[in-house]
Amino acid sequence: MAYTYDDQNIFAKILRGEIPNDTVLETDHSLAFNDIRPQAPIHVLVIPKGKYVSYDDFARNAPDAEILDFTRTVGKVCEMKGVEADGFRAIMNAGAHGVQEVPHLHIHILGGRPLGRMLD
Ligand code: C5P
Repeated sequence: MAYTYDDQNIFAKILRGEIPNDTVLETDHSLAFNDIRPQAPIHVLVIPKGKYVSYDDFARNAPDAEILDFTRTVGKVCEMKGVEADGFRAIMNAGAHGVQEVPHLHIHILGGRPLGRMLD
């Protein structure tokens, strides 16, 4: 499948500095920022700086260095937010069935309260 990236999506605008964000951590290849509509006391989004629509796009097409940077950034955010002890949830929505609102890969890191069961 070919992935078509929309340069006008809101996270592309954030990466270009056209829209502000509440940055948690920035690295060579990734940006972590607080979600504008937090669903939990801790709700951070981590995105790659590269143009990837979804996780499958990223996993298939990103260079190793970008995948490593993204993964390590998620780890650093978990450490910075102190969610290791009590736990957290990491979610990546993709496409229509996944109800992905912004078509630039992002992982949600949610924590700071019991999150309940996700699948029953
Ligand atoms: O996974 P999904 O695409 O549905 O999530 C997009 C997320 O991006 C939402 O949680 C929304 O609150 C967040 N968002 C944001 N800053 C924006 C626009 C959307 O944090 N400017």
